[in-house]
Amino acid sequence: MNEHLQSSAANVFVIGDAVAKRIPKLTPTASFEGRYVTGAINGDAAPINYPVVPHTVFAGPELAQVGVSLDEAQAHPDTYEVLTQDVGSWYTYHRIRDDNARVTTITERASGQLVGAIALATNAEELINYCTGIITQGLPASALQQWIPVYPSVASDLGYFYN
Ligand SMILES: Cc1cc2nc3c(=O)[nH]c(=O)nc-3n(C[C@H](O)[C@H](O)[C@H](O)COP(=O)(O)OP(=O)(O)OC[C@H]3O[C@@H](n4cnc5c(N)ncnc54)[C@H](O)[C@@H]3O)c2cc1C
Repeated sequence: MNEHLQSSAANVFVIGDAVAKRIPKLTPTASFEGRYVTGAINGDAAPINYPVVPHTVFAGPELAQVGVSLDEAQAHPDTYEVLTQDVGSWYTYHRIRDDNARVTTITERASGQLVGAIALATNAEELINYCTGIITQGLPASALQQWIPVYPSVASDLGYFYN
């Protein structure tokens, strides 16, 4: 299989779990590949280019992650700033008795850009989805000043994590 998801027979494409890939084998990545192959069949010559792929362990609490990993960030402290916060006492988490919630954010020192996040919380996938949007679109922290989310909520906490 090549970077155009073509098998050894050029007119046979591969998508989903059958793809040999380093990113997680998940339903949304399979869908992304399906859309890519549709474009390739219709003449798009670019190789597949995956955006950041979040993933979640749906346990109780959930553990979700996106972007630069903690291992990578800790291995390059000059490049990345890692901030871990116990957020169980914050209204968003305390009101649902998620007192052990914990969030780690990873920012690139040079640009201040959010590049990774890890959440251990009842609703971890919500925060990680917001972080995925920020990372995918390369949004600066200042962009969060331009909207007014419901408070207290996962969305309203973004400004505390990324400012
Ligand atoms: C237990 C479990 C939990 C998961 N949870 C999540 C999750 O929460 N979120 C998430 O994003 N991903 C999850 N995944 C991963 C996700 O299910 C897969 O990445 C996704 O389904 C891959 O899609 P696919 O089309 O490649 O394969 P599949 O969805 O497996 O589809 C392949 C289809 O081909 C059929 N098939 C097989 N052989 C033949 C044959 N010879 N002839 C005809 N048909 C055949 C199969 O019956 C099946 O219907 C989970 C996977 C597992 C196993």
